[in-house]
Amino acid sequence: MKLKGDQKLSRRINNRLVFKAIKKNKKISRADISRITGLSKASVTKIVNGLMKSNIIEECGKEDNDRVGRKSILLQLNKKDVFLISVTINDLGMVSIALNSLTGEIKNKKTFKCDCDEEILKLIEGQVNSINKTLKGEILGLGIGICGMVDSDKGVILSAVNPNWSDFKIVNKLNKRLDIPIYLENLTATAAIGEWWYKYEESKNIQSLIYIQIDDSVGSAAIINGELFSGSKSSNMEFGHIAIKEDGKICSCGRRGCIESLISKKVIYDKTDEIFNFDDEDQVSIDDIYLFLAKKSYNESTAHKEIINYISYVLGRGIADLINLFGPDLVVLDFELNNSKYFFEKLINNVKDEVLPPLKNVKIQKTKQSNENELLGAGVLVLRSLFL
Ligand SMILES: [Zn+2]
Repeated sequence: MKLKGDQKLSRRINNRLVFKAIKKNKKISRADISRITGLSKASVTKIVNGLMKSNIIEECGKEDNDRVGRKSILLQLNKKDVFLISVTINDLGMVSIALNSLTGEIKNKKTFKCDCDEEILKLIEGQVNSINKTLKGEILGLGIGICGMVDSDKGVILSAVNPNWSDFKIVNKLNKRLDIPIYLENLTATAAIGEWWYKYEESKNIQSLIYIQIDDSVGSAAIINGELFSGSKSSNMEFGHIAIKEDGKICSCGRRGCIESLISKKVIYDKTDEIFNFDDEDQVSIDDIYLFLAKKSYNESTAHKEIINYISYVLGRGIADLINLFGPDLVVLDFELNNSKYFFEKLINNVKDEVLPPLKNVKIQKTKQSNENELLGAGVLVLRSLFL
């Protein structure tokens, strides 16, 4: 029987409801899924059979309670037979590849340095083939997060700095080499999706969050009412290119005083070096500069405070603008300076000074600066395609 468009949509929505009930409750019976979702027992049975056939869920023993009568069989996400492959490519050309379980465990993470597109395509092809050879289980698909502007619907990298990509049809090219579904998204967006899917999706109080990532570049992404916010071209929110200082330095985008041009690692390194006069013995590299500031700030020297005040002022202005625009429930900050208590308190005060009164209580939370959220989110791109 062929399903019409609206029937297909309602089937996807019902599949998603059942999947979410299992994901949220970890172990749950068919009867409880029916009670929670409002779907009939017959519909739940049909959907559960489909999800079991695709290996996405599995039975995991019987209910352990004092209820009289037959104990119900419990269901859970399949932890051992199906996997997602996640790939991230950052703006230094570092490619990370891992195998994710449906419940968010990252396994076999490997990182490589690549210099050109052909090298990256070959690497992904080789790694997927080698995983396929040894894996006891099924791969549902591959998700890629990349630092750059992407058109995720078409699977095209619109622009990226390293490698220097423009209109690069990465999904199409990989589809010619690999026989699995492949999905693409911007790197900060995948980090936001990873944080959302595994920490907040089931939370009643947090339906919208803004994720801000500061490293060599400055990016952000938003989850609004549970969905990734996306414009007509791309899901990128160019937070780093909000202009804060009219007479500021020229940014890579050609304008003046953008957030990225004011607090990027290189700029902060030069600013700190002016005050501390780093010599070889200090062994402080550009890469370590935020960590250096985070550590030293515990001494709360005036010099450190001066630099941290400056960073928290710039960021506070930008974050306040985002809060005023979107009114999220939560802002998540992915930044090495999070380790500095002085910085974080200062930032929160600066944001409070700039946001409109009804939004003063929007929470700002730290997340660990790591590749983990990006890899988790890249895997979730595959799962989302099944249910969204
Ligand atoms: Zn700019």
